[in-house]
Amino acid sequence: MSPAPIALYPDLRERPVLVVGGGAAAERQVQALLAAGALPRLGGAPALTPVLQAWADAGRIQWLRGRFDGAWLDAVWYLVAASDDPAVNRQALQAAAAQRVLAQDATGAADTAAATQATDDTGDGIGASAAAATAQAIRPGTVTLVGAGPGDPGLLTLNALRALRNADVVLHDRLVSAAILELLPGTAERIEVGKSASGHSVRQEQIHALMLEHARRGRRVVRLKGGDPFVFGRGGEELEYLRTHGVPYAVVPGITAALACAAYAGIPLTHREHAQSLRLVTAHCKESFDTLDWAALAQERQTLAVYMGVAGLDTVRERLLRAGRAADTPFALVENGSRPQQRVVVGTLADLPDTARAHQVRSPALLILGEVAALATGLHWFGAAPLSALPSPFPKPAVPTLAHAA
Ligand code: SAH
Repeated sequence: MSPAPIALYPDLRERPVLVVGGGAAAERQVQALLAAGALPRLGGAPALTPVLQAWADAGRIQWLRGRFDGAWLDAVWYLVAASDDPAVNRQALQAAAAQRVLAQDATGAADTAAATQATDDTGDGIGASAAAATAQAIRPGTVTLVGAGPGDPGLLTLNALRALRNADVVLHDRLVSAAILELLPGTAERIEVGKSASGHSVRQEQIHALMLEHARRGRRVVRLKGGDPFVFGRGGEELEYLRTHGVPYAVVPGITAALACAAYAGIPLTHREHAQSLRLVTAHCKESFDTLDWAALAQERQTLAVYMGVAGLDTVRERLLRAGRAADTPFALVENGSRPQQRVVVGTLADLPDTARAHQVRSPALLILGEVAALATGLHWFGAAPLSALPSPFPKPAVPTLAHAA
């Protein structure tokens, strides 16, 4: 057996590292340090690039304001000189040498005190020379479209987990649960592209631009979406854009809301006695209602899974009844499916909007309409029992008596 290779690089994980500078070169160094798990501090620059500023605002790096101060070296293990000002770099490197802090000139302009370099598991250099930093910038980035499922992290696929663990930056929808975001490595930059606190969502073109910008910087971008990226998730549009711009991509499917809500509410979407087909439908605006084939949707022995429909339940009821669906067709509304706060409300088509209002059903909720929906009252197993005016279709399970046990 050959001996284990000798580690040539300092392990900077969890260690404070001072990066001198605030421009593009400093940004590349900070990015590589974050990827390797170091704790970068930044100082000696009057201003930061927007990306560095965002990382500072998010608390991922610490910004030391003002002119370079030798006292900053007291608490760090390593210094990377990446200022655009050669005089500042020189001063920082001299101070590091005087205090015996390992240092690296990332601009290649001055002698380095120690030609040390660290790598993360992708082989990206830390404190790399200018040549290596340029090579890193042109390494082609990738975008992986990942389905996060409905909220329960246990419903992620192994491929999804792997993609999250390797991500440099994650662009995620608001629908992606906090429990899933907790699985991201601390080094991954997170950008929410769903609705902001002010209620404005990031426009689709901006999402495209962000994916491209980060991929072009050589980063592994994960575009993380609730459910499955190809079910009412605009995944198709995003791939078209990436293909047009020559960005390599991959897709990891996720468990879509219809499958998860049905499973967690105890509703088999098909059933030999009740339903032979399933339709996934979205209805959230007037135009989308008008383009649906209501005669087909109103057929019996069929299950509809209606996405984004909470606001349109009056219209759904009216159109289905008009097209001939029986007024006593059962429905189930599953709110926050698979999450700890899941609620299931069951009733009949005639009372659908009134029942939803009475129970104040809120988004995200999925409407399951069809004969199978009544089974929730008997087959539910997760969270609270369904709120239902319908009787259970099954007899109560026999309770073992003492006589049985004896
Ligand atoms: N791509 C997603 C759907 C996005 S559309 C998927 O495959 O699931 C957003 C709609 O999905 C919501 O309005 C709601 O109808 C449904 N939805 C998503 N997550 C849900 C959840 N946890 N519980 C109930 N409905 C959910």
